[in-house]
Amino acid sequence: MYRAVSEKTPVISRFAPSPTGLLHMGHAYSAILAYRATTEYAGRFILRIEDIDTNRCKPEFIDAIYEDLTWLGLQWEQPVRLQSEHFTDYQAALDVLKEKKAVYPCFCTRSEIIAEIEKAQSAPHGPDGPLYPGTCKHLTQPERDVRIRSGEAHAWRLNLNTALSVIGPLPDWCDREKGPIKTTPSLLGDIVLARKDTPTSYHLSVVVDDAHQNINHIVRGNDLFHATHAHIVLQKLLGLPTPTYHHHSLLTDKNGERFAKRNRSATLKSLRETGMNAADLIAQIGL
Ligand code: GLU
Repeated sequence: MYRAVSEKTPVISRFAPSPTGLLHMGHAYSAILAYRATTEYAGRFILRIEDIDTNRCKPEFIDAIYEDLTWLGLQWEQPVRLQSEHFTDYQAALDVLKEKKAVYPCFCTRSEIIAEIEKAQSAPHGPDGPLYPGTCKHLTQPERDVRIRSGEAHAWRLNLNTALSVIGPLPDWCDREKGPIKTTPSLLGDIVLARKDTPTSYHLSVVVDDAHQNINHIVRGNDLFHATHAHIVLQKLLGLPTPTYHHHSLLTDKNGERFAKRNRSATLKSLRETGMNAADLIAQIGL
């Protein structure tokens, strides 16, 4: 049935790469899908640089992102948001979660977590492997205070049980390919929301920024499908809207392996340097 343009909600979508290496064909697929979702009904396409990991992210990879996306023919709004310039926003969100007692400090090292998982008879497992066994969840408040005051390095983890009791029943979320999805936050357990080395985490900053930038349609790979369950919990805790999602299948190479930044031959830069043009690439990735 015909609908007037004004009845449509403009799609606001984004591509949010981390500048830890050169973009590959899988990134091109994601970026083009997100871009195309915005080309009707006065949509908006936003590029966000997810560079909270200040040790691994490099300015030259940010420049390469701009170059690659321009080569692909994409146009994005200015200014580009660099997450490393907005740590105070993520801190403010973490403070809200602290006030709700929905987070706790975690002092465990990686090896302590592995040892604890090995020791446990039936450690909880998620789709991506064993979950945090909850060691620091059981510390008392005075124990936490003493360790924080003594300067012991700590992350902040979501206290999923408390979070769920604060927010009550969770709505389904919607994936464009898979339809309505029942929110199952236990898949990821007590995720890290602020790391020891960085005062936020992917999960916290992505949720804060998607809301801040009014993103209403998130396109990303299926590797982040399970993370969305945790993002719904954070959105509810922080009083933020839930966008619609489109998790697409991941492109693979001739050997059936996912493209990775370390696989240099599939980077957009190297393909460009072999003389390939953007139209050929777009055809090759099936778009
Ligand atoms: N920064 C993430 C990555 O490069 C993508 C995050 C997202 O699309 O939600 O894998």
